[in-house]
Amino acid sequence: MESTQLLILGTGPAGTSAAIYAGRAGMKTVMLGCAPKFAGDYEIDNYYGFPETISGRELQERGLEQAQRFGVEAVCDRVLGVHFGEKGGFVAKTESGREFSACGLVLATGVSRVRPGVSNLEEYEGKGVSYCVSCDGFFFRNRPVLVAGEGLFAANQAIELTQFTKDVTIVLQGKKSTITPEFMERLSAMNIEVIDAKIETLEGEDGLERALLSNGKTLNAHGLFIAMGQASGNDFAYTLGLERSGVFIKVDNEQRTNMPGIFAAGDCTGGFLQIAVAVGEGAKAAKSAISWLKNECPKNKE
Ligand SMILES: Cc1cc2nc3c(=O)[nH]c(=O)nc-3n(C[C@H](O)[C@H](O)[C@H](O)COP(=O)(O)OP(=O)(O)OC[C@H]3O[C@@H](n4cnc5c(N)ncnc54)[C@H](O)[C@@H]3O)c2cc1C
Repeated sequence: MESTQLLILGTGPAGTSAAIYAGRAGMKTVMLGCAPKFAGDYEIDNYYGFPETISGRELQERGLEQAQRFGVEAVCDRVLGVHFGEKGGFVAKTESGREFSACGLVLATGVSRVRPGVSNLEEYEGKGVSYCVSCDGFFFRNRPVLVAGEGLFAANQAIELTQFTKDVTIVLQGKKSTITPEFMERLSAMNIEVIDAKIETLEGEDGLERALLSNGKTLNAHGLFIAMGQASGNDFAYTLGLERSGVFIKVDNEQRTNMPGIFAAGDCTGGFLQIAVAVGEGAKAAKSAISWLKNECPKNKE
C-alpha cells in the first residue's frame, strides 16, 4: 500500500489544476489517470491566454509538467475501485494492482458516456440492475448474475461477485474484450464464463429474471451489474455513498461532496462542461482539500 496525503482521480484539467494547487501548498499528492479525451490534436480556441489557439495535447502536457514541478506524482493507471480505509481515509485500487491510501480524495474523472445499449435497462434499475457490486452484490446471494462489460473493470466486478454467488457470467456487450490473459485465467479458474454477445432486452415480472441476448439465447439472471469501459466517477460515487444528480456528483460551492474528505470537480459534477470551468473547480476543490488535510483529517489528529 502506497500512502499519500491527497489522492486525485483524473488527470484532465480539473484534476491537474487541483494537483497544481495542492502540490504548491506542500501537500503530498498522487494523481491517477491517463490521457484525458481532449488531449489529442484538437484546437482549443476558447481557453484564456492562448490567442493563437493551443492543442488539447499541449495544454494537457503543460499542466502536467507544472503539477510535477510542485512534486506531484502522476501515475498513468486506471482505478478499478475506491473504498473507505480501515483506519479512516480512502483506498484506491488500480488495474496494475497498486493500492494507494490517502486522507483526502478529489474526484475529477470527467463524464462517462459508455452506455450498455440494453433497450429497457431503466425499467429494471433497482429491480436487478445495479452499478455497484460492493453495494448490492449481497442481495444476489446464490443467484445467477451477469456483468455487462468488456474490460478489467468488468472482470474485477465479476470476481468480487463470487463472494456472494458462484453463478457469474460476463457478457461483452458487443465490444472487443480488453481483459488481459492473466485475468482470463483467473476468471476461468472461478468458472466465470465470458460470452461474446450483447444483452438486448431484460425480462421478469417482479424484478429481473432473464436476459435476452443478440445470439438468440436467453440467460437466467436475477442481477445485472453494469461495468462498461473503465470505472467512472459515478461508479466511485455510488460505492462511497455520494449524493448524485443523474450521472453527476453533487457538490457545494466549495466542491465538497456530502462525505467529509471527498471533493469533486470538473465534468463529473455537471454544469458547463468546459476546460475553463474544470480548471476553476479543480482549484476550489484543492483549496477545500488542503483545509481538510490541515485541520480536519483524522490521521493528522492521531
Ligand atoms: C474532443 C474534445 C474537444 C473539446 N474541446 C473543448 C474546447 O475547445 N474548449 C473547452 O473548453 N472544452 C472542450 N472540451 C471539453 C473539455 O475537454 C472538458 O470539459 C474537460 O476536459 C473536463 O475536464 P475534467 O478534468 O473534468 O475531465 P476530463 O478531461 O474528461 O478528464 C477525466 C480524467 O479522469 C480520468 N479517469 C476517468 N476514469 C478513471 C478511472 N477509472 N481511473 C483513472 N482515471 C480515470 C481520465 O483518464 C482523465 O484523465 C472538449 C472535449 C473533447 C472530448
